[in-house]
Amino acid sequence: MNERDRVPSRRRILAVGASGVTGLLLAGQPGFAQQAIAPTPACHDGDEPTLAETEGPFFKPRSPQRSDLREAGIEGRAVELSGYVLTRSCRRVAGALVDLWHADNAGNYDNTGFRLRGHVFTDDEGRFSFRTIIPGLYPGRTRHYHVKIQAPGERSVLTTQFYFPDERRNRTDELFRRELVMQTARANDTLLARFDVVL
Ligand code: FE
Repeated sequence: MNERDRVPSRRRILAVGASGVTGLLLAGQPGFAQQAIAPTPACHDGDEPTLAETEGPFFKPRSPQRSDLREAGIEGRAVELSGYVLTRSCRRVAGALVDLWHADNAGNYDNTGFRLRGHVFTDDEGRFSFRTIIPGLYPGRTRHYHVKIQAPGERSVLTTQFYFPDERRNRTDELFRRELVMQTARANDTLLARFDVVL
């Protein structure tokens, strides 16, 4: 994919994000707020799929099915990470697998157990949602989530990463892509983060 091809996709994401953030800020309650956002209003033009990225060295298969990755002993600022899984023709994909794994508050991955690892399936509206924390930084990388997304009945898996806006290290991390930045908003102590995936 060349740089020119990326432009429409990015424009679309930014346009969606602007309305998304407004919705988030107006609504207040995390769950309600994100439900209330109109799903990808600009998704109508057979858009490009979400960029793929390396899975990195810390992926583990067979994560537990759970939407809340917070558990005893896990510190860090709460995040509600949600979004829709969509086809390139903007249809919502129900029952899609979304597998999430990321570093803890101190930048470490759990490679012996499954802390801060889990997967969910999108609901009837193609929506997924996790409760977790803001991942810590580790050498060489900016702040990020790792995700794998797979539509039901499909063999292909999209592996990518989601990034945070306004991170200093976004400028120096060679894996960082602006197209993969989440839209974020604050709701009390929780950071609301949204990313709509196009398969
Ligand atoms: Fe990582």
